[in-house]
Amino acid sequence: MRKGKVLVVNCGSSSIKYSVFEAESVEEVSGGLLERIGGKSATLKHRVGPYSVELEIEARDHRQGLEQVLRILHGGEVKAVESLAEIIAVGHRVVHGGDAFFESTLIDDRVLDTIKDWAELAPLHNPPNIAGVEAAKSLLPGIPQVAVFDTAFHQTMPEKAYLYPIPYELYKRHRIRRYGFHGTSHGYVARKAAEMLGMPLKALKIVTCHLGNGCSVTAVRNGKSVDTSMGFTPLEGLVMGTRSGDIDPSIIFYMMDKEKLSAKEIENVLNRSSGLLGISGVSNDVRDIEREAGKGNRRAALALEIFAYRAKKYVGAYAAAMGGLDAIVFTGGIGENDPTIRSMICADLGFLGVKLDGELNAIASKDAREISSSDSAVKILVIPTNEELVIAIETLRLVKGDMGKQP
Ligand code: ADP
Repeated sequence: MRKGKVLVVNCGSSSIKYSVFEAESVEEVSGGLLERIGGKSATLKHRVGPYSVELEIEARDHRQGLEQVLRILHGGEVKAVESLAEIIAVGHRVVHGGDAFFESTLIDDRVLDTIKDWAELAPLHNPPNIAGVEAAKSLLPGIPQVAVFDTAFHQTMPEKAYLYPIPYELYKRHRIRRYGFHGTSHGYVARKAAEMLGMPLKALKIVTCHLGNGCSVTAVRNGKSVDTSMGFTPLEGLVMGTRSGDIDPSIIFYMMDKEKLSAKEIENVLNRSSGLLGISGVSNDVRDIEREAGKGNRRAALALEIFAYRAKKYVGAYAAAMGGLDAIVFTGGIGENDPTIRSMICADLGFLGVKLDGELNAIASKDAREISSSDSAVKILVIPTNEELVIAIETLRLVKGDMGKQP
């Protein structure tokens, strides 16, 4: 493997999350988060190994933001890279690749145009992702850029899973179908699960539960995504921090009429003031909600109950879709850290062979671990996700291929 560093970039609407990996060992050497891009002053939290610093800086847009990130990487008190020439490739998280991308890809003008094409379907996500690619192209000219798509892992879904029962012409005309998201995470934890179980991924039926601010469940059969709970957009499926997940579509028309809301306003309600926040009225963070529920707040307790109940229904549905279940994997901020939610989801799934070990479940740890009873037919695993690592590995794989093609 070539010497040098890989920069991983994940641009949100007003943020840049970044990591720097050693190309040889694929170990993370530095990382950070720049927030409030476009505001009066942006906050940069930067770390290199054990060293960390927080700075107020100017970042009008993503280009200036990335410029500042590159500056601190080689010019900070503790250097993450000796010079920018050390960076041999940049890997970008791109949320929506539509059905154009089955896997990660090197970015050229044609690829960038296609990503722009899909921006209409991911208006919150793809435009900042594109801004990140354009900034990196101009600040690190000639350095290969790779796009790793949230949607790519789910491109293996069969038609019966991704088509909605609406007029087929609408699918053809407007590309309305299930795409699924969090694919980098679902794919990573499924592969890790097979490793932990010492079984070939091709022989396993796994339900992966990514429970963070956004939440989704995926049915992974023989290593492939065969169904997933997020759909045309990340709004479908599970109850999330502020997103409703599944609702009867008629509620939208009824709300329009009764509350005199526009389509845009309803989109906002369903994306920003629903989910855990909407039901509890307390917060979008399960830690706050659990604290309130502990004090007897009924709506807070209800929010947790609905959250877990709906996740449980997806586990059952996907076991049925796959014709069996070998493992359930929990990941994401909630999945990795919240024993209460995990136990609520696994409760009463004994009929499927799911048996949680209460003591193992209660142990707090940052490591991947098994939390099922020794006699549980279905293994229950907690696996910390690491999307940045996957992006770094994918980037290196593609850059290597690219270099191989050169004379
Ligand atoms: P994102 O989807 O934005 O990447 P995360 O995966 O970090 O988010 O998940 C964020 C959520 O994880 C928080 O809103 C919180 O509800 C939950 N969370 C984080 N840490 C803990 C913890 N120690 N215990 C319980 N829940 C946690």
